[in-house]
Amino acid sequence: MAKPEWLTIKPVSTERYGEIKQTISSLGLHTVCAEAHCPNITECWGSGTATFMVLGGLCTRGCTFCAVSKSAHGDGVDQLEPEKLARVIGRWRLPYVVITSVCRDDLEDQGAGHFARCVKSIKAASPETVVEVLIPDFRGDSSCLKTIVDSGPDVIGHNIETVERLSPGIRDRRAGYRQSLSVLGTVKRLDRTRYTKSAMMLGLGESDEEVLQAMEDLRGSGVDFLAIGQYLRPSQHHAELVEYVPPEKFTYFRERALGMGFLYAAAGPFVRSSYRAGEFFAAEMVKRGRQPTS
Ligand code: SF4
Repeated sequence: MAKPEWLTIKPVSTERYGEIKQTISSLGLHTVCAEAHCPNITECWGSGTATFMVLGGLCTRGCTFCAVSKSAHGDGVDQLEPEKLARVIGRWRLPYVVITSVCRDDLEDQGAGHFARCVKSIKAASPETVVEVLIPDFRGDSSCLKTIVDSGPDVIGHNIETVERLSPGIRDRRAGYRQSLSVLGTVKRLDRTRYTKSAMMLGLGESDEEVLQAMEDLRGSGVDFLAIGQYLRPSQHHAELVEYVPPEKFTYFRERALGMGFLYAAAGPFVRSSYRAGEFFAAEMVKRGRQPTS
């Protein structure tokens, strides 16, 4: 399927992008921007925002839409990763960072403890930096979720990825639409003052009604921020792309999301869960002390 004109992106190559990239790779850190072939990589990195992926570059899940490398056993965990991250973020004075991870079903605590140590280390070194975490589902384990909440991130995100009907073919069989809603609801129950966020992709064959239902379900779980973007098929081996959704449809969903009570909604062909526009807005909101919903 040929890409429509609105999906042609002009790469923004900046000096800052190159410098940050070099520092990150010299320390052996991973960013999801590179691993997941994100189309916004130069724009985000060029403006000083990057999403770091902790716990290695191998995921133990097999979601069919995702470009991250997969393996039944993940990489060895770099015990120095929390300090390295804190050093990079402090050095580049990044105002807003997103920390995400691959799934680590092979580890006893599914990596929650290491994830939390990363957040604490960043917060200790750069108290001004707003930290968003984009977490796996931890198979719904509330003790793992509590470990994350207690580490003190400002925003906790978990992606629902797609509508309920398509979830089984798109996401790993250990993940699930209802489980993801439950994860988001549990985070809110653990701390009502914490902002929560979720994201989904369009273009996988979902109907408008199914998208609106997913949005309602997310609001029902108390989610504050929503990001909706276009699915871009990483290769012929990944889930099939059914359609390129036109920009006006994204505008429609954004307006409906705001009408449902999301504090912020970003929707557009290039929007990703960590897209910088959303982060900047979220940073403003956190600084202005706007109350999360419940
Ligand atoms: S859980 Fe799925 S979407 Fe997330 S990194 Fe692993 S394979 Fe990709």
